[in-house]
Amino acid sequence: MFGLTKTQVTGKVRGMARVKIYILFLIGFLIAAALMILFLRSRTLYHGPVSDHFDGRSFHYKGPTRTFTDSFKWMREMKTIEWPEWINDPPQPKPVERVDAGELRVTYINHGTVLIQMDGMNILTDPIWSDYSGPVSWMSTRRVRAPGVKFEDLPKIDVILISHCHYDHLDMNTLKKLNDKFQPRIFTGLGVGSILSPLKSNKVLEMDWWQKEEVKSSNLKIHFVPARHGSERILTGANKTLWGGFVIESPNGKVYFSGDTGYEDFLEEIHQRFAQFRLTILPIGSYEKRWFMRTQHMNPEESVQVHRLLESKQSVGFHYATFAEHPEQTIDAHEKDLADALKKFSMKQSDFWVLKFGEGRYVSK
Ligand SMILES: [Zn+2]
Repeated sequence: MFGLTKTQVTGKVRGMARVKIYILFLIGFLIAAALMILFLRSRTLYHGPVSDHFDGRSFHYKGPTRTFTDSFKWMREMKTIEWPEWINDPPQPKPVERVDAGELRVTYINHGTVLIQMDGMNILTDPIWSDYSGPVSWMSTRRVRAPGVKFEDLPKIDVILISHCHYDHLDMNTLKKLNDKFQPRIFTGLGVGSILSPLKSNKVLEMDWWQKEEVKSSNLKIHFVPARHGSERILTGANKTLWGGFVIESPNGKVYFSGDTGYEDFLEEIHQRFAQFRLTILPIGSYEKRWFMRTQHMNPEESVQVHRLLESKQSVGFHYATFAEHPEQTIDAHEKDLADALKKFSMKQSDFWVLKFGEGRYVSK
């Protein structure tokens, strides 16, 4: 070749062959990884009888669901509203260690994480203390404020309720830390136990909708109730595990934690079976655009309607202003929309609290 010695030409050819091998190796690796992910996503995580919400492989709520085209349209039309980089909240007093029989105290920690202290038991919902919500940091939504209660300031946790397996509600790093420190009982939906297997806990109890379980050494009963939502993780595929909400029943009153849900018929059934409630904990975030979100997340007005439907004495909101996961509403949109909804139904702000991060309050009987 022009100006090159035989040795230089041979070296160049060998170099090109090496690049080709690297490229082939990379393509082979990517294909193998994609096949592995497809295989894992196709697994059945719960084996049990077919029901009106389980077809033998996956779960569903009756009625139309969002399509891929809907998701594409939502993303294409999305207008991103910037959230602040970081917010510093005023520190709040540490939670109390326990409450006495008959007492009920609720502390908002962040997102779906609420500390419910009831009749001497400490119950934590959908715990997340991680810096991001997602499978790995670069594929996740970022935290915009610290959890309202420091992990080390938590009282002994007896029970954890996990509403569903989305990353913002089932955070493995947090669950490992909680499990190591407290060995709590964990109540969740059918199939979720397979995701929790790395915890090596023998205190995980999977529940079907309307199933009831007693909480040992307490006077509490836990009911798992329907929700209109869904479930998915990267390696588990869509709707392979059951999602839902919880009713905590005590002789001193009932508490409803809805988990993520749209407003649907099952709420009428909850009313028929359980009303009235001493406290309902209801979502007031991530609800725009309504045409896309209404089957997944209630907006504040719908949550106020649930408060009224369930004859709740007191409600408190959750699922807001923690992770920059929802670009179509300002970080404080829930406050104005909730205030408008309360006005519309002639209710007082003291009927439906928006607690500060880390703020706790006693709930009267
Ligand atoms: Zn959520």
